[in-house]
Amino acid sequence: MARDSERCVRSIRFFPSRVTIARGSPDPHNRRAARIAATAMDIRKIAIVATLTIAWAVPALAAAPAPEMGRYKGHVATLASAEFGGRRGAGAVKAAAYVERELKQLGLQPVFGTSYVQEIPNSNTGGVLGRNIGAKIVGTDPKLRDEWILVGAHFDHLGRAGTTYFPGADDNASGVGMMLEVARCLAQSDVKPRRSILFLGFDLEEDGLWGSRYFVEHSPIALDRVKLFVTADMIGRALGGVCKDFVFAFGAETSPGMKVIIDQASQGQPVNLGLIGNDLLMVDRSDYGPFRRLSIPYLFFSTGENPHYHRPSDRSDTLDYDKALAVTRIIHGIIRRAADSDHLPPWNGKTEPSLDEAIAVRDVMKVLLANREQLEIGPAVTLVLRSTLAKLEGIVIRGMVTPAERSQLVRAARVLMMTVL
Ligand SMILES: [Zn+2]
Repeated sequence: MARDSERCVRSIRFFPSRVTIARGSPDPHNRRAARIAATAMDIRKIAIVATLTIAWAVPALAAAPAPEMGRYKGHVATLASAEFGGRRGAGAVKAAAYVERELKQLGLQPVFGTSYVQEIPNSNTGGVLGRNIGAKIVGTDPKLRDEWILVGAHFDHLGRAGTTYFPGADDNASGVGMMLEVARCLAQSDVKPRRSILFLGFDLEEDGLWGSRYFVEHSPIALDRVKLFVTADMIGRALGGVCKDFVFAFGAETSPGMKVIIDQASQGQPVNLGLIGNDLLMVDRSDYGPFRRLSIPYLFFSTGENPHYHRPSDRSDTLDYDKALAVTRIIHGIIRRAADSDHLPPWNGKTEPSLDEAIAVRDVMKVLLANREQLEIGPAVTLVLRSTLAKLEGIVIRGMVTPAERSQLVRAARVLMMTVL
């Protein structure tokens, strides 16, 4: 994740997990045999309806492989190993080759003409500054295959400092592992997606999002046909080192209908997903930035800044893999649904006040307050936190947020980010 002179925040929300099963009509007779027969029929009906419900709610997912822990861990450990040198310089070249090889092995097609590599030129030297990697699955529906769903993650990191190196396990081997596992699940699925899907490994994110900026300026596909861009940057730790149950997604507020898909994909996953407005971050913290500026619907997943952020301690042996894999499963579910649904919500751009967001921020603030000694939160910020929390409790009880209240909430969250996180 790119550095920020200011700081960022995020938050939570709970998705109840439930499959609704429609019941058959009650038995009209009292005789035992008829009742048994009717009950058997009911059970069959229930089974059929349940199957149809699941098939509808999880289109094509039943036929698809799921993200696997062993493979995911393997990607993270490899990319975060000393051999990859913190993925800068020669290490970044190696990482680009690794991502290219993995996508190629899945049978995905190149997207930069006949190449999987987009070289980013160094305008000063005339040499090559970095490399984006891209591979595609072409959609099966003649009406939808010209529309695109993009899944990206940056593979570069900070490199070396003297004799030590920055492993970047969370930042962002965790996101690359997600992208590669989602690519595998879709490539190996018996049911191919209706829309086309493009998988991207970005270079030079740590240098002002340079890789993704170069991509949008030299895109091999028509960007006005991109229906959704999804990226993950740092999905294997905990905000502030304390928000262990939470992952955050930014961007849903710019295409509100996307929430339905997110809710479906999150059901049953052992993580609290908080949908937060991008304006709480103040600046673009990862590769969604260049897409956001083009009004392309996007989602940015992150578990947030933590004590290992941009430190040599961001090693692969301290990652929360259960959480990272849960986020990978959620993103896989979102991509699959987005690729197959008849219609996708367009860019809206307005950030409406949202009760989900208020609940998420409230719950994060509670965790931060409960850990204020560890986080060294002083009396002044504690006061701000407590008064904001009281307001948020009122908002949640009332069940709605006014625009003025949201502005206050955004201000308080920013203060928190700048002083605590
Ligand atoms: Zn970073």
